[in-house]
Amino acid sequence: MLKIALSKGRIFKETLPLLEHAGIIPLDDPETSRKLILDTNHDAIKLVIIRATDVPTYVQYAAADMGVAGKDVLMEHGGDGLYEPLDLAIARCRLMTAGACDFSPTAHQKLRIATKYVNTSKQFFADKGQHVEIIKLYGSMELAPLVGLSDLIVDVVDTGNTLKANGLEPKEHIADISSRLIVNKASMKMKHAQIQSLIKKIAEAV
Ligand code: AMP
Repeated sequence: MLKIALSKGRIFKETLPLLEHAGIIPLDDPETSRKLILDTNHDAIKLVIIRATDVPTYVQYAAADMGVAGKDVLMEHGGDGLYEPLDLAIARCRLMTAGACDFSPTAHQKLRIATKYVNTSKQFFADKGQHVEIIKLYGSMELAPLVGLSDLIVDVVDTGNTLKANGLEPKEHIADISSRLIVNKASMKMKHAQIQSLIKKIAEAV
């Protein structure tokens, strides 16, 4: 049995043609089905549908052998127990700091940063030698500077339209983001031939 962890929405849609190239076709649509484990045209290959932020955890603990996760989610998770053999070049965006267009920090001001990327943000500001207070949020980060919860946010930005619509602008670039294929380290050893062949076919499709 080979289990592949995917999240619904953009990642699922953009991963589908890659899996199809590898001969794997799901028998259900996660957007309409309530099933969390989807059958495929192969009896021994299942798709496990979970939240994007949970994908590395399922793969780390071998609850799924492989998965697709954004680099932002992987950076935040830390990557323990995982290989990251392939950049799928899908769901591209940038991890940025952002704030009000007219915001400029005064010297030695301890900035407040609102984000769901707590670990990545701590590391980014620590590397710059900047003392910050991180406030953990679970969504709608753009609201935080508007209501005085934070000075800046750390979030993924694609077109920048969401920031712009809220009077914010991207400030500092933290990382280029795209979705990656991840593999559990033990699965890679124990199911080496099957997983390597799958990686090869998906790489061709990329
Ligand atoms: P934007 O195109 O910059 O207005 O992005 C709209 C919203 O979608 C932002 O608030 C982001 O949080 C989110 N977003 C954009 N691109 C991605 C991506 N590749 N993965 C996850 N979230 C994204």
